[in-house]
Amino acid sequence: VYDYMLGTMSRTAPESRIVLVTGGNRGIGRAIAEEFVAQGYKVAVTARSGSGPEGTLTVIADVTEPVSVDAAFTEVESKLGPIEVVVANAGITRDMLLMRMSDDDFTQVVDTNLSGAFRVVKRASKGMMKARFGRIILVSSVVGLLGSAGQVNYSASKSGLIGLARSLTRELGSRGITANVVAPGFIETDMTAALPAEQQNAYLKQIPASRFAQPAEVAKAIVWLASDDAAYISGAVIPVDGGLGMGH
Ligand code: NAD
Repeated sequence: VYDYMLGTMSRTAPESRIVLVTGGNRGIGRAIAEEFVAQGYKVAVTARSGSGPEGTLTVIADVTEPVSVDAAFTEVESKLGPIEVVVANAGITRDMLLMRMSDDDFTQVVDTNLSGAFRVVKRASKGMMKARFGRIILVSSVVGLLGSAGQVNYSASKSGLIGLARSLTRELGSRGITANVVAPGFIETDMTAALPAEQQNAYLKQIPASRFAQPAEVAKAIVWLASDDAAYISGAVIPVDGGLGMGH
């Protein structure tokens, strides 16, 4: 359908492409799913419980379990068809100063945020390599670029996603697959609502845009990365942070 001289070729028009978003029952993941639905994509979301927005197929999955990830993909493929766009969004925080952080606090965050994304993109790439088309988008964080006191687990996992996307770009680029990272700043979701007010204010002072963002603002960048307009963009880190991480 689409053929840039040096770009990738997709078999289907963007509006009929199939998308899977992990952690799509709330927050940023839910907004991403809503935006894909608004653009006409066929959208599936994973949730550990609850369901995604209207117009999406919800499958129950835990990204820390390879078997669960595999079953979710198989269900989506059988109900919707081959997955051409995947957004690894599921993530957790477990903030703690280094000296108080247990081995479990560290490994569980990395297991969800980084190893979880690995499991998801590995499974997604199977079909994408066959189709010689795919869009992989990883939700990192400005904290993966800047670091953050009290978040060595989270920032390590989010930095790791950048290495993951760039290696995927090198390994899969010739198969028509792109892999990019979106690095949100401070977005108003359950995750940030849990932060103490003084920490929220400290962040606000550092944000050139002088405000927090809505999940839909992150979703717009992600849906653009999935579009044909972004066919030649791979290995990129796109900040959506009001300038918070500028220069990194
Ligand atoms: P949220 O807590 O509202 O949503 C997180 C989602 O991940 C939920 O749907 C949850 O069910 C899912 N999830 C968590 N563990 C999972 C697991 N083991 N298996 C499957 N799903 C799991 O948080 P959010 O703010 O919407 O965050 C979404 C993503 O954006 C996360 O990766 C987060 O790190 C990242 N992010 C958020 C902000 C922010 O300011 N809110 C900033 C930068 C990056």
